[in-house]
Amino acid sequence: MLHILVSIKQVPDTTNIRIDPETGSLIRTGVPAILNPYDAHAVAVAAEWKHKMGGHITTLTMGPPAAEAALQECVEMGADRGILLSDRKFAGADTLATSYVLAEAIREIHNNNPLDLILFGKQAIDGDTAQVGPGVAMRLGFPLITYVVGIREINLEEHYVIVERKTEASIEIIKSKLPAVLTAEKEIADIPYASLPDLIKSLRYQPEVWSAQEPVQFDDTRLGLKGSPTQVAKTGTPELHHPGKTINTTDKDIQEAVNEVWDEIFSSPKLALVKG
Ligand SMILES: Cc1cc2nc3c(=O)[nH]c(=O)nc-3n(C[C@H](O)[C@H](O)[C@H](O)COP(=O)(O)OP(=O)(O)OC[C@H]3O[C@@H](n4cnc5c(N)ncnc54)[C@H](O)[C@@H]3O)c2cc1C
Repeated sequence: MLHILVSIKQVPDTTNIRIDPETGSLIRTGVPAILNPYDAHAVAVAAEWKHKMGGHITTLTMGPPAAEAALQECVEMGADRGILLSDRKFAGADTLATSYVLAEAIREIHNNNPLDLILFGKQAIDGDTAQVGPGVAMRLGFPLITYVVGIREINLEEHYVIVERKTEASIEIIKSKLPAVLTAEKEIADIPYASLPDLIKSLRYQPEVWSAQEPVQFDDTRLGLKGSPTQVAKTGTPELHHPGKTINTTDKDIQEAVNEVWDEIFSSPKLALVKG
């Protein structure tokens, strides 16, 4: 039976986010938390294939207790099981520590109920690194396909998947053995309207909560801030740059324009020369 795992993150709605000019940190108070949009599309494609082939969708997130709302939203879209990795020891994790925890949790799930596909969003809209999916694939030793815009075929008898992957210039068609890790673009599937049974189920749904000890015994030195070598030196809003002065050569002689540029270079450090 098809078994898909979707790794999801609850994120602040970045359309509403502001930065505290004093501390340089994100002001999260009063900012609504949402399911990371790319992850919602990953859940949607999992639900599509569950409807086509039957099967089971497990969702997984590492986050605070409030992240259970994001797992409930996945149940509303057709997920069967939600696992919340929540423990104070996980707090402050960078992408290295996050990938370690998720990979160990996925290994545990896979050992008990083998997985065919493991889906991630292309990136989280707050962290924006796009490192977590690849980090997990590498740790598990599973093939990785990023920027996936469509799943064409899942063949469980012959253990392969065929997907469409977006590049800057074209769409690649890639065949990979299963289990495989995919990172999803929004085009991979439309978000479905919830069916009434899934909606009712999601309202009552309580995800399983896993700690740093149970059912996986994580290595404490690789968790949270302690296991995170990344240091954020400073965050802030980039300064708005004033537009430079444009000197074009359509209405004047080239020598005259060059002289004007020369004068400007010595009077102002901010100058853009546009050919034309
Ligand atoms: C020193 C330090 C401390 C930090 N402390 C925190 C903190 O306390 N809280 C916090 O939220 N962030 C914290 N961060 C940010 C943290 O690095 C990232 O949010 C997190 O590791 C995921 O990286 P990303 O957001 O860039 O995800 P990306 O790599 O862009 O996400 C890609 C995909 O990975 C999956 N994914 C990402 N994160 C999770 C998750 N937690 N659970 C399940 N799936 C996931 C989703 O499918 C997502 O679409 C900290 C960063 C640093 C450097």
